[in-house]
Amino acid sequence: MNESADIVIVGGGPVGAALALALLGSGLDVLSLEARGAEAAALVAADERPLALSHGSRVILERLDVWSALANATPIRRIHVSQAGGFGRVLLEARDADIPAYGYVVPYGELVRALTQAAQQRLPRYRLGARATALRIEGASAIVEYTRDDGVSDMATAPLAVVADGGALAAGVDIRTKDYGQTAVTARVQTQAAHGGTAYERFTRNGPLALLPMGDDMALIWTTTPEHAADLAAMSDASFLAGLQNAFGDRLGAFRSTSARAVYPLTLKYARHIVLPRTVLIGNAAQTLHPVAGQGFNLGLRDAWELAEEVIACEPEWLGQDDMLERVRRRRQVDRVASIRFTDSLVRVFSNDVPPLRIARGLGLAALDQLPLLKTFLARRMTFGARG
Ligand SMILES: Cc1cc2nc3c(=O)[nH]c(=O)nc-3n(C[C@H](O)[C@H](O)[C@H](O)COP(=O)(O)OP(=O)(O)OC[C@H]3O[C@@H](n4cnc5c(N)ncnc54)[C@H](O)[C@@H]3O)c2cc1C
Repeated sequence: MNESADIVIVGGGPVGAALALALLGSGLDVLSLEARGAEAAALVAADERPLALSHGSRVILERLDVWSALANATPIRRIHVSQAGGFGRVLLEARDADIPAYGYVVPYGELVRALTQAAQQRLPRYRLGARATALRIEGASAIVEYTRDDGVSDMATAPLAVVADGGALAAGVDIRTKDYGQTAVTARVQTQAAHGGTAYERFTRNGPLALLPMGDDMALIWTTTPEHAADLAAMSDASFLAGLQNAFGDRLGAFRSTSARAVYPLTLKYARHIVLPRTVLIGNAAQTLHPVAGQGFNLGLRDAWELAEEVIACEPEWLGQDDMLERVRRRRQVDRVASIRFTDSLVRVFSNDVPPLRIARGLGLAALDQLPLLKTFLARRMTFGARG
């Protein structure tokens, strides 16, 4: 069967589902294809990878009427930045930036569940169990071939295709890759002292270690070498907690217990062009960032929101045409490039243990703590992203 639509969205993960919801009420016929079937959706719901949602993301999720489904989102009221084996630290207070919180920590699975449920309830053509296998352009049409859960192959045609598949269908996309030679280990840990809404970012010899408040617990994202990550994932809970205590120190008292660990290899990947004929890439399909600054989903959500605004403002006959695509490219340029550079420079500066750099870093952190304007800039960048 060959069905038609105004827009086909490939990927109904957090970014693709957000775009579909943002287009609700636009009068456009939107077809969303999500590879996950019902059973895989249950597995994703258990994914506890912590996502720090910025205040700006909260505002977008409120507009999408999804925020109220994230009742357990934990506010980050202050951010404490330090480095192991060096001096200098920065304390960023949300109230100094005049916002209620820097962000909110939500497990990835909970966010996906909230967005997927909203999409399934409100959108007639949001399809689970539909895996795109090819995207090609013929004349003024994007043609997406896909396979359904029951093995049947189908095809969808639209003047505009949006790729939000996390980077899975990268064929034909010019991707730049930078391997950081690092791996993230995530876990949910319990600490002796209450977190009081403080998130910790600590730069260690092997890479940054973040502890984010999540409910009464802390969500750990520990970036380190692949070998160390493999050891951390395989060792007993007691050895893991001892290693964590050693790397983080005792600001939160003793680490008492931990969940199972998950491991994510880290590379920076970005598409050279986010618009291609009749096609726009958004979210991780456009850029996959190191999680050090917690920017990936926040940036992807802004991709989705601003693309929806451009689509809604466009006369239907111009959908997917070069002028419209160029407006999208220009609009996303500054935020995207700034977020990629900001995250990449944080990784480079803070993952290098050369002693002079460590001292410079200490001086930088100490100076930053004394510079309210710079602190506010940093806080706003992490909260709202860059604006052109
Ligand atoms: C350890 C870790 C911590 C992180 N912390 C943060 C954080 O604190 N803050 C933050 O903002 N970001 C964070 N991120 C990044 C964040 O997880 C991603 O940016 C976000 O998940 C991107 O969403 P997405 O929808 O673009 O891609 P994905 O989440 O990868 O979703 C893609 C979707 O497309 C579907 N799909 C794939 N292939 C196909 C196909 N062929 N056909 C149809 N559907 C398909 C998949 O099933 C999936 O549902 C973190 C990432 C990691 C690894």
